[in-house]
Amino acid sequence: MSTTSTGSLLGVIVVRRGVLPAGADEVTAEAGGRVLLVGDGVAGAVAGLTAAADVLLWEAGEFAPAAWSAALATELDGELDGELDGELDGADVIIMPASPDGRDFAPRLAAVLRRPLVANAIAVRTGEIVADRYDGRLAEHSPVRGPVVATLIPGVRGVAPCPGVPRIRTISPRPAHPDAASDAEVLEVLAADPATIALTEASRIVGGGHGMGGPDAFALLADVAAAIGASLGGTRMVADLDWIPFERQIGTTGAIVTPRLYLAFGVSGAVQHTSGLGSPDHVIAVNTDGSAPMMAMADLAIIADAPAVVTELRRRLSGPAGIAVAVAVAVAVAVAHSTTGNVAMGDEEGTTP
Ligand SMILES: Cc1cc2nc3c(=O)[nH]c(=O)nc-3n(C[C@H](O)[C@H](O)[C@H](O)COP(=O)(O)OP(=O)(O)OC[C@H]3O[C@@H](n4cnc5c(N)ncnc54)[C@H](O)[C@@H]3O)c2cc1C
Repeated sequence: MSTTSTGSLLGVIVVRRGVLPAGADEVTAEAGGRVLLVGDGVAGAVAGLTAAADVLLWEAGEFAPAAWSAALATELDGELDGELDGELDGADVIIMPASPDGRDFAPRLAAVLRRPLVANAIAVRTGEIVADRYDGRLAEHSPVRGPVVATLIPGVRGVAPCPGVPRIRTISPRPAHPDAASDAEVLEVLAADPATIALTEASRIVGGGHGMGGPDAFALLADVAAAIGASLGGTRMVADLDWIPFERQIGTTGAIVTPRLYLAFGVSGAVQHTSGLGSPDHVIAVNTDGSAPMMAMADLAIIADAPAVVTELRRRLSGPAGIAVAVAVAVAVAVAHSTTGNVAMGDEEGTTP
């Protein structure tokens, strides 16, 4: 890295149709509340940032990382003559979420600005970036002695909300050489399939542990997940047993996830698993052991045989009343938000959800 300065931080977050990516609020917090939202529907996305103090909005339309990089370079590169009257001055450390768009945009911006890129950071500070290497086996500490671009892994840092109302301004940077940027033409945007999206992007996750008993029960669990629009995940124990692929493992040595809803079936809740869970709004756990740590973390803790619950859930979800059951699950989630406690479901009747 060059040795010119260790200036201030700026979060840069891509917004699509008013929706923030995973890790947006954490990037905002890591950048000390100073953030640029760029994309489509940016004004509506500000409310989702609890850590924002100083917000720049750039309504720039469809994702166009090459054009946006060229326009930002005009303002951030001291040798070019930008039009924004210093709004982006001092943004020496640019942080983006390591979301799909952030991982796409960050290297382009770094290349255009001729800055180093530090990908998969777990902490970004003035003067130092700590990055995850070798799937969590190594934390690499890099001194920052000049302008840099970094991506921050969602779910690792948490968020300290910023009190007060953020200062909000609108900008519209223009590239010095518009013809130099070339972006792919967007023909169609397909809705994400929860069954195949990266777990880090999933807002609902159905997780299974060793208490599910075997791979057959995981096939049923995958059906339940698909029926309620959730992604399937699990513990390291079941990944090691090949009941789920490694990329579906949640935890410190797997995926660090940030779901709003986590349904845990036969998961003990070991710290190496739960520390990869972020802070879900709602947790429902099914376990035969009411004292398992996963049950203590749950808004709704159901003492029952997990494979039996999953078998019955799948039966109900695949029948004609499937949609009604899916709605019932949603209602249970809403109830879980306001109720905390264990529900024993040990008898024949009680094993059905
Ligand atoms: C360095 C290191 C890194 C690790 N990284 C990770 C990681 O990234 N992710 C991860 O998940 N783990 C990780 N682990 C492993 C972790 O410590 C636990 O061993 C693992 O999470 C336990 O998985 P489990 O809950 O599926 O299995 P178990 O610990 O065997 O728990 C099974 C649970 O199922 C319940 N149960 C049993 N039968 C039933 C039934 N019929 N119905 C309902 N419930 C039932 C039991 O009461 C129990 O709570 C790591 C460990 C180490 C040492």
